[in-house]
Amino acid sequence: MSFLSAKKRIIEDTDPDRVYTENIRSFFNVNSRIARKLCDAAVKRGFFDKYIELRCPNDNSTIVSAERFEDIPDTIVCQNCQLNEADKYEFKKEDLSPNTFYKLSSTYRTEKASI
Ligand SMILES: [Zn+2]
Repeated sequence: MSFLSAKKRIIEDTDPDRVYTENIRSFFNVNSRIARKLCDAAVKRGFFDKYIELRCPNDNSTIVSAERFEDIPDTIVCQNCQLNEADKYEFKKEDLSPNTFYKLSSTYRTEKASI
């Protein structure tokens, strides 16, 4: 499958702001290692922008996302857990493992209107 048809499927099947290696893995029907390589290649081609996110250990929701780990504050709050008055809703970023995801780059996004 070419990047072009992958692009089309990503736009049709997923949130272009939240593309995970797993999405790519299943599109291409490849293993995770190859999916990660494809994502890296897509970043190099300007097809994707790479981001990281930290997820709440309680409810698995995304608490924060940023282009770089350094951009994330040391202490982060899960608003879901805070609202639900969970015992723990404040986390240190070092305690959470960052998860990589991709956004369809703005260059490709403008083409979305024409599909
Ligand atoms: Zn939470």
